[in-house]
Amino acid sequence: MILETQCKSALSKHEHEFPTSWDVNPYRGCTMGCRYCFAQYSHKYLNMSNFFSDIVVKTNIAEILYSELRKKTWKGEQIKLGGISDIYQHAEKKYKLLPQLIDVLKKTRNPVFIQSKSTLILRDFELIKELAKYTTVDIATSICTFDETAQKIIEPGAPSAQERMEMLSQFTGICRHTIVSFMPVIPLISDSDENLETTFRLTKEFGIDSIIAYPLHLRGNLKKPFLKLVQTHFSEIYFQFSELYKTADLNEIYAADLFQKISGIRHKYQLYGSYSIVQPQDNQLSLFP
Ligand code: SF4
Repeated sequence: MILETQCKSALSKHEHEFPTSWDVNPYRGCTMGCRYCFAQYSHKYLNMSNFFSDIVVKTNIAEILYSELRKKTWKGEQIKLGGISDIYQHAEKKYKLLPQLIDVLKKTRNPVFIQSKSTLILRDFELIKELAKYTTVDIATSICTFDETAQKIIEPGAPSAQERMEMLSQFTGICRHTIVSFMPVIPLISDSDENLETTFRLTKEFGIDSIIAYPLHLRGNLKKPFLKLVQTHFSEIYFQFSELYKTADLNEIYAADLFQKISGIRHKYQLYGSYSIVQPQDNQLSLFP
């Protein structure tokens, strides 16, 4: 179900500061369908039942964002496009809200962090390239597993990890920073030596700047349905997996071992998770359109 709506505000502030504390979400709900998605339970606040198929489209978001970014009180902080839904999900093919938002960012020269799993972002490649001449643009994609069978179970609406990497690589040298978000690393499913190695090796080979890696936690309402998914599709590891999640957080000893393994691969490929938000006064590009 698609619900078109007119929003009253475009910018939303949240407590987490990574990568920024300001989000713009043209869509609520997400057809990528990632079973680990922490945002899926936010739909209840909209009185909608299925986050993966009931999509709210804020058709006037570009116009509202433009007026918010032009307010005297706005300090020009870096904003994130997306945050609780993928901005280049299927509905974007029809609604084309992103070209409008990119145009607003260009006019206002506001720095931006773009995150998407979707290759549809390449439709707007030239627009993003142009935007990067006017302001700071950082781009990230998230990766879970290169095992396509597992990926189609866990992220049924998303392109393959290989396709996402290839997509991101096209922005290297154009945007300030390209980032692989290797999240979540799922114990016993996506934390094999082979998957860790492939993720870091391809990040290096594609010339992507940095990689962030973080394991799965099963907080809030996520635990029960995710355990059910593991039981149904990965029954051979179910017992061991459920033992790792006696609480909502991954078992501490397992998590420490995983971080140590990831740290070793980081050193091998000299790939780190460094990322710093651009401060309004440092957005030098805005001086040189
Ligand atoms: S792409 Fe992001 S927002 Fe969409 S379902 Fe996956 S994790 Fe959730």
